[in-house]
Amino acid sequence: MSIELYLIILIVVLAALYFVVPFVAGTFLKYRGKRVITCPETRSPAAVEVDSAHAALTAAFTHPDLRLKTCSRWPERQDCGQECLLQIEIAPEDCLVRHILASWYLGKHCASCGKKFGEIQWSEHKPALLSPEGKTVEWPELPPEKVPDVLKTHFPVCWDCHITETFCREYPDLIVDRSHVSEGVHRDLRG
Ligand SMILES: [Zn+2]
Repeated sequence: MSIELYLIILIVVLAALYFVVPFVAGTFLKYRGKRVITCPETRSPAAVEVDSAHAALTAAFTHPDLRLKTCSRWPERQDCGQECLLQIEIAPEDCLVRHILASWYLGKHCASCGKKFGEIQWSEHKPALLSPEGKTVEWPELPPEKVPDVLKTHFPVCWDCHITETFCREYPDLIVDRSHVSEGVHRDLRG
């Protein structure tokens, strides 16, 4: 094979990589992550995960082929028709658990200290949820398919208030009420 032919093949491969790789990577990022969909069979929320690697690989040749990698109804219903994929195809971001939570917190205020929530910084301390019984819970502790129902009954709390509440609940003996000490100090200063 001549050097010219090698060069042509190299240019074609590089051009293909230049155009295909960003599309493949974009498809992978688009379909990764836990999602909550409405199961067409039960009409109830179910947590699913798309096989994003398969979607990305097929996207290199044709339209991304979507298939589930996990579902909260598996293994019992592993042979279902995966009709829920249509919901993901129509609105891939709207059913992402992260998106559902971020939209819910945005603009709300902490039920304990009143601080307003902005965009959630996923790499930092994340806000939590306050149950009607007054117990805080971190949402990663919840099964994703329960998130839509929990958001209907719980209140948003910031990380600081969640940590304070958890500490008070778990170590009540270490909590010291210093209000009377403070009052005494002020009385001594006045007197
Ligand atoms: Zn707070």
